[in-house]
Amino acid sequence: MRGKRLFGTNGVRGVAGVDMTPSLALSIGLALGSMRKGSIAIGRDTRTSGPALGCALKAGLLATGCDVTDCGILPTPALQYLVRQHFDAGAVITASHNPPEYNGVKVIEPDGTEMGDEETIRLELRILDEKVPLVPWNAAGREYQACHLVHEYIDAVVQKFLPGIGEGITVAVDPGCGAACATTPEILTRLGCRVFTINSQMDGNFPGRPPEPSTEGLLPLGDLVRATGASLGIAHDGDADRAVFLDEQGRFIEENKEFALIASQVCGIQKGTIVMPVSTSRVVETIARNCGCDVKYTPVGSIYVARAMRALEAEGTLVAFGGEGNGGLIYPDHQYCRDGGMTAAMMIAILAKERCPISELVAAMPEFHLIKEKIRGKDPAAMIERLNSEFSRESIDRTDGIRINRADSWALVRPSGTEPLVRVIVESPQKETADLFFDEIMQKLGK
Ligand code: MG
Repeated sequence: MRGKRLFGTNGVRGVAGVDMTPSLALSIGLALGSMRKGSIAIGRDTRTSGPALGCALKAGLLATGCDVTDCGILPTPALQYLVRQHFDAGAVITASHNPPEYNGVKVIEPDGTEMGDEETIRLELRILDEKVPLVPWNAAGREYQACHLVHEYIDAVVQKFLPGIGEGITVAVDPGCGAACATTPEILTRLGCRVFTINSQMDGNFPGRPPEPSTEGLLPLGDLVRATGASLGIAHDGDADRAVFLDEQGRFIEENKEFALIASQVCGIQKGTIVMPVSTSRVVETIARNCGCDVKYTPVGSIYVARAMRALEAEGTLVAFGGEGNGGLIYPDHQYCRDGGMTAAMMIAILAKERCPISELVAAMPEFHLIKEKIRGKDPAAMIERLNSEFSRESIDRTDGIRINRADSWALVRPSGTEPLVRVIVESPQKETADLFFDEIMQKLGK
């Protein structure tokens, strides 16, 4: 089977006006409209190129006979929720955490999940190779505006928690001028929290910080946490499928620890399998097993996590939780996609229950040392096969690239989908062990 050419693990992405153009958006609209008949929801993040791409995408959908409901600016998980509730498919115009000049399109299936590989390849073939039939004048689609629908998503998240669960809790929120401006401050206010915000005006120039919620970009949020005496700082990426946190002293909480902390909370209520990509820190597996839960590893990419969760459920396995070690967490009794607003609310529930500073809960997590590097090489696949034979006597997992598991450490080496390089992750409780393991891999690769 041919691989995907336009679409990566998170849809089509590119620099607006260069590779992500209105004509490409139009082609995606025409292709999707000819593949998924009926009523299609579209939404976007706050990027300046969003309206032009949105109009082009809509034109393609309408011309192929689909009705289009434009939900305006909202988080990706909000559109995913609305698609599952009301529509036959959806598309979000977003480049997630990428810099402001980027944009892209993610296609959403009727069940609210992102389109899987096979269907994406079919869609691409239509975009690249085929002439899509247009409908006659009396079959053209209708356009509806429905910016108010985002409130259904907000209601759905709020209803997952006890009324007033956030009372007495002060939080500082940084939506980064992205799509979460429309949702997270309101969700937290409705849970009863006292909410302070920074970068909470929608602005596709991202004047406050880049859409990626990095430690550096969140320094002003840290200041706001300390100035307001907040118990927690909350930040999102551009389309708010991820949430990251600062503790009450304004210090960044590493996202694998965030995953483990929320996993322990979720598994306290509902035991079952926890699903995560092979790139996730072992801290999550350790906490999961301590809670009496099983773990299942998938290839890297949230869509693989979401689809594995659905497949496990279909075969009768109870799935408790899933996610990635980047603040993108999936709550199966809410929806099968990463949800930043839900993650923000879940941290409030943890604070309400534990009644202690979040830094204490983080400090109770097992410590680990993580090394992440990119290693250039002409033939990434050959580099991985070489490691496969070099480490053949060890415990090896070939779910994605190669993961070498040792007693208290592990290493993952996987090819980049887009560049001639491999990504290497090594983790160990001790820095020295991680360094030695990393050196060993470099030596076997002849680096
Ligand atoms: Mg995102």
